[in-house]
Amino acid sequence: FQLSSSLLRKEVEQTYIMIKPDGVQRGLVGEIISRFEKKGFLLKGLKLFQCPKDLAQEHYKDLKERPFFPNLIDYITSGPVVCMAWEGDGVVASARKLIGATNPLQAEPGTIRGDLAVQTGRNVVHGSDSPDNGKREIGLWFKEGELAQWESVQTPWLIE
Ligand code: GDP
Ligand code: MG
Repeated sequence: FQLSSSLLRKEVEQTYIMIKPDGVQRGLVGEIISRFEKKGFLLKGLKLFQCPKDLAQEHYKDLKERPFFPNLIDYITSGPVVCMAWEGDGVVASARKLIGATNPLQAEPGTIRGDLAVQTGRNVVHGSDSPDNGKREIGLWFKEGELAQWESVQTPWLIE
């Protein structure tokens, strides 16, 4: 009986990143994907998707008591979103830094929200807030077989 090396390896961290309908409508898809690509994380899943209401409610279930919840669900389901799974050590926290503060007026210049948005209710992108939520959200938004198993030729030039 042999354990495969993937079972022995520490589980790789993944995060769920989503370009919200305003990001798609405003033609920011390439710009936003590019920031994660250039940083050096590995893209494992990508699709354009019209989110049904029940999925939006499940994704944001922790916010369901908040006064803005109905607006949030209308916003997220108002047009197609771009769903992505990104992988790498520390990707969850790093992606949150690349995205910037929830309120784009408070987000630092250089971050996605700091550079590309002005309002919390139109903040162009989502990123998971913990590795556990990364797993949960990727499971919610992607079906079995939708994530690609691949290694980038850049890996040896990014990771010592
Ligand atoms: P995030 O993790 O930075 O996206 O922020 P949260 O998890 O706190 O909130 C989820 C999303 O709900 C935010 O990205 C916003 O789109 C929306 N949201 C949060 N707070 C507010 C608010 O006070 N007003 C409105 N309109 N939307 C909000
Ligand atoms: Mg959040």
